Amino acid sequence: MNDKNAGLATRCVHAGEIKDAHGSPHTPIYTTTTFKFDSTADLLDVVDGKKTGSLYTRYGLNPTVFSLEQKLAALEEAEAAWAFSSGMAAESALFLAHGRKGIVCIGDAYGGTMEFLASQLPELGIPTYFLLGSELHGLKTYLEAGVGLVFFETPTNPTLEVLDIRAISDMAHEYGTLVAVDNTFASPVNQNPLALGADFIIHSATKYLGGHSDITAGALMGSKHLLASVWNWRKNLGTMIAPDTAALLARSIRTLPVRVERQNVTAQNVAEAMTQHPKIARVFYPGLPDFPGHAVAKSQMKGYGGMLTLELNGGYEDAVQAVDKLKLFAIAPSLGGVESLVTMPVTTTHHGLTPEERARRGISDSMIRLSIGLEDATDLIADIEQALGSF
Ligand SMILES: *Cc1c(COP(=O)(O)O)cnc(C)c1O
Repeated sequence: MNDKNAGLATRCVHAGEIKDAHGSPHTPIYTTTTFKFDSTADLLDVVDGKKTGSLYTRYGLNPTVFSLEQKLAALEEAEAAWAFSSGMAAESALFLAHGRKGIVCIGDAYGGTMEFLASQLPELGIPTYFLLGSELHGLKTYLEAGVGLVFFETPTNPTLEVLDIRAISDMAHEYGTLVAVDNTFASPVNQNPLALGADFIIHSATKYLGGHSDITAGALMGSKHLLASVWNWRKNLGTMIAPDTAALLARSIRTLPVRVERQNVTAQNVAEAMTQHPKIARVFYPGLPDFPGHAVAKSQMKGYGGMLTLELNGGYEDAVQAVDKLKLFAIAPSLGGVESLVTMPVTTTHHGLTPEERARRGISDSMIRLSIGLEDATDLIADIEQALGSF
């Protein structure tokens, strides 16, 4: 079932599923590392790319992986998708394949992405540049200089800054520069960057796509042509997804819209309740009408997601107090699962930055980032209220 006209929920359930000889409703798990052929001629057809077929699992030529990749492509209405062993694996293969002439990163990005861009790629002689979301006017200089790739997340971590995918893509394409969007925070339910002009989408499937905090995986979506040159990098870096994980990820994607739509509603409820709280200075959530990124979010997102950040009236000690008193929110540095999680950017994702750099990025010591799970909104709000009332 690969009907392009089918709705997202239908595609999540049915896209890519293969029929087996026993009537399994889902693609079976092929853990085998290699696949046999009837003849040398048959083998050569697959090796030479004349026929698609299973060959060797690290190459991605495995029926379970292939089935997952069709589902991943269908999620973002992309021509093609590659699955990876992690979100960083997807990013690193993309950067090495298409970013060698230089990469511009706009706005805040995931810690691992920042480390890879700021210190590791330059060690290989690959130039990388950084602009705040408010410094878009500076992009032209890098585009003129011939960088290969513009990369950004939206909404960003932890301030939920919303970047205009269409506007940035148009700017980059004037110079023939490719655009990659990390769509992890929004998920394909809320935002489809390819439809807004981007060339690549990256997902840490560890988060919403996996959705249960029990698998580590990544995905890259784009055109067949542009993804073709990423294939060898994944193959020889050896960052293929394992077939068991591929099957778990396909299982999770079947419920993705149901989970994310609920998380959107609950996050909106929590965000609205917190705007009223005397101990909260600011709520960062794109679904709030007076949030600075709301207008752009409204134009490019179908829902505002399950991530929000609270800034407390007070300092670091107050935020630690509140976080430590939460009962339903687990202190853990991830997101997108069925269980609600809490982190402080200053102790986790942005711990490595100097206080000056954090301030420049609008990140304060009293910020608390919440990943809203599938618990009842009333219970989550009551939990935050009791934690805030404890000091
Ligand atoms: C977690 C995350 C990554 C990295 O993904 P892994 O699966 O941990 O490698 C990249 N981008 C964003 C936005 C993330 O949240």
